[in-house]
Amino acid sequence: MRIGVLGCAGRMGRAVIAEVLAAEGCTLAGGVDRSDHPALGQDLGTLVGEGPVGVTARDDAAALIELADVVIEFSAPDATAAHVALAAPNSTGHVIGTTGLGEAQEQGIREAARSTAIMRAANMSLGVNLLLGLTEQVARALGAETFDIEILEMHHRHKVDAPSGTALALGDAAARGRGVDLTAAADRGRDGLTGARRTGAIGFAALRGGDMVGDHKVIFAGAGERIELTHRATDRRIYARGALTAARWLHGRPPGLYAMADVLGLAGGKP
Ligand code: NAD
Repeated sequence: MRIGVLGCAGRMGRAVIAEVLAAEGCTLAGGVDRSDHPALGQDLGTLVGEGPVGVTARDDAAALIELADVVIEFSAPDATAAHVALAAPNSTGHVIGTTGLGEAQEQGIREAARSTAIMRAANMSLGVNLLLGLTEQVARALGAETFDIEILEMHHRHKVDAPSGTALALGDAAARGRGVDLTAAADRGRDGLTGARRTGAIGFAALRGGDMVGDHKVIFAGAGERIELTHRATDRRIYARGALTAARWLHGRPPGLYAMADVLGLAGGKP
């Protein structure tokens, strides 16, 4: 299977390249990054600290999508929106890990999925996908009157969107468990004289600093007791491995918008 990497010079792009190079039955079709990125023209093997592989970083996404069986993308929202539109007329599968997309960009993905097989996940790790299911289950069991839900996440200092896509997916899972809509329930960012906590709110807090790969905690706080569900990522290769598993699963599937829960065969949470 020929795999292309979109956003190849980024933290995740490099982790994906390393996974693809180490994987059996996969070849690296190419890597694409921004046309002004200093890594352009560099050998992708060298870029990830391996020996040269004879494939260089380029800026032609259309050509890579044409060539690859599946492309894996961890880039930026505007780039991802442009790439799904390019992928749509192709049979190339598209694995998307980019987070922070706006509603119009989300709509673009849903439309592209009518003609392309797209697997989209705010978090590709097995642990977080299990956490989504657990969060939904606990939220369903505990009443909004007696237990408050707060979602806390911490990431490295370079992350540009907040709350993280995973925190929002956990919020969605909690809202599903409670049978409410996250948009109405979400309380994103408190500052100053906020007044008392709204009953039924699902609160978010985002911390940034250092080189943390990503921590997420869902807190169910009641009177006299608290349940905390935590996932800590210590190596971003878990996401790259998950993306590669998704790419293998997606190859040859009919058009549609799939989630990591489909790939992993998990009932419940859909990030
Ligand atoms: P990063 O900034 O290190 O990498 C992003 C790369 O995309 C950069 O190299 C950038 O130049 C490139 N890019 C930007 N515009 C482009 C374009 N038009 N064409 C091609 N490449 C372009 O960021 P990162 O830490 O690798 O994260 C990337 C995205 O993946 C973020 O949205 C992040 O939240 C998300 N992420 C998702 C998961 C998951 O499991 N789903 C895990 C980690 C990160």
